[in-house]
Amino acid sequence: MKFIDEYRDRGLAEKLARRITDHSTKRIRLMEFCGGHTHAIMRYGVRQLVPETIEMRSGPGCPVCVTATTDLDKVIALAQLPGVIITTFGDIVRVPGSYSSLQQTKAEGADIRIVYSTMDALGIAKANPDKSVIFAGIGFETTAPTIAASVIKASQEGLENFYILSLLKLTPPVMRALLDLGEAKLDGIIGPGHVSVVIGSHPYEFIPKDYGVACVISGFEPLDILLCVNKLVEQIENGKPRVEIAYPRGVKPEGNRKALELMQEVFEFGEANWRGIGNVPRSGLKIGERYARFDAQKAFPLSLEPAKEPKGCRCGDVVRGAATPLECKLFRKACTPETPVGPCMVSSEGACAAYYQFCGLSSPKEGK
Ligand code: SF4
Repeated sequence: MKFIDEYRDRGLAEKLARRITDHSTKRIRLMEFCGGHTHAIMRYGVRQLVPETIEMRSGPGCPVCVTATTDLDKVIALAQLPGVIITTFGDIVRVPGSYSSLQQTKAEGADIRIVYSTMDALGIAKANPDKSVIFAGIGFETTAPTIAASVIKASQEGLENFYILSLLKLTPPVMRALLDLGEAKLDGIIGPGHVSVVIGSHPYEFIPKDYGVACVISGFEPLDILLCVNKLVEQIENGKPRVEIAYPRGVKPEGNRKALELMQEVFEFGEANWRGIGNVPRSGLKIGERYARFDAQKAFPLSLEPAKEPKGCRCGDVVRGAATPLECKLFRKACTPETPVGPCMVSSEGACAAYYQFCGLSSPKEGK
């Protein structure tokens, strides 16, 4: 297939892996921020291709995984209100909250619908004028522009029963929060490809400048990722960390102007609660004053019981890169894709799901 096969060429991948091995002398730790990268890395055996000197950790780039239990409890509580239809993307439905899940709440009679775009949610609002339709907006900078577009459209059409619960999160502020923690001890970051299509490469400049950590933005095919690792190794070996784009067919330094304008029109910065990290200032997007009437937080004030975390689950450590899924005692035992204890095993972008699916039990390098 054009533009895919070229990036999966086995011979080229092996050549690139040899080049990385030849140049990598220091022991380094890299973090792939994005859940899509985690799955691609596991699926294509990238960890097995790179030398022992390189350790790779997953980061907080799976939107479902970083959604705090208290925020999930909010969505469930909204679903239990009379006359409310909750619309959301698929994975979150199976994630256990403190006392229930959306799946269980739906089984108990709540109207919860999985949609593939925010425009579908808008369609449901139009078709159900006697109901309040709330879209639970979970995601990063990639999802935010489409949610913004739906709010603008709802406003233009005078829709009065459409709301957004914005749980949107921003990548650069949480990268800073992780680097401030210093726990993962990173030498380089594999920058998120899809997020960077929207925001560009400039917002990451603080990573080499303030922390001396290399940052290379990558695509999602195996050759993209190996090329990115090669650039990271070169930067680290030369002691010259900087921001580089190894995904030029998708990412421009300035990002996507139209998408950024949509976000700026509808949202304002706010604090966001990240699983395993806590509240990070200005790391979330809230509905701004101009579109306040679409804000589900304001329209449906809730009083919630304190959140309870799943016992024994180490998703918080996994999203911080402080542990791998293999370090969780529940992995492959109490916690499997059929009986997930935490979100990292539920989500199609979750690190635990990726390790479960692609990590051979007997592989000597599975914990790398
Ligand atoms: Fe949580 Fe399951 Fe992952 Fe353990 S294996 S961290 S319980 S999702």
